[in-house]
Amino acid sequence: MIFLLLLVLAFLLLKIQDELSDPLVEESVATSCPGCSKEIEFDWMVCPHCLLRLRESCSSCQQGKLISHRYCPACGAQAAAR
Ligand SMILES: [Zn+2]
Ligand SMILES: [Zn+2]
Repeated sequence: MIFLLLLVLAFLLLKIQDELSDPLVEESVATSCPGCSKEIEFDWMVCPHCLLRLRESCSSCQQGKLISHRYCPACGAQAAAR
């Protein structure tokens, strides 16, 4: 009976260690603005700090894409030259 109890305890300890070693899940996809390096949300179109455009719509499929991406991730079209 005591052996069984120890087994359960060991199992619980392993489970707790497992949970502690899990990497923390990031709640928001915050990133930094390439213009002013202040914190911005990934899906913002324009940086509210310096008004730098962060996203544009693809000229081919009109999907929103990061302005730093040379190619549209949705359709592969090359972004217009800036
Ligand atoms: Zn900015
Ligand atoms: Zn596209």
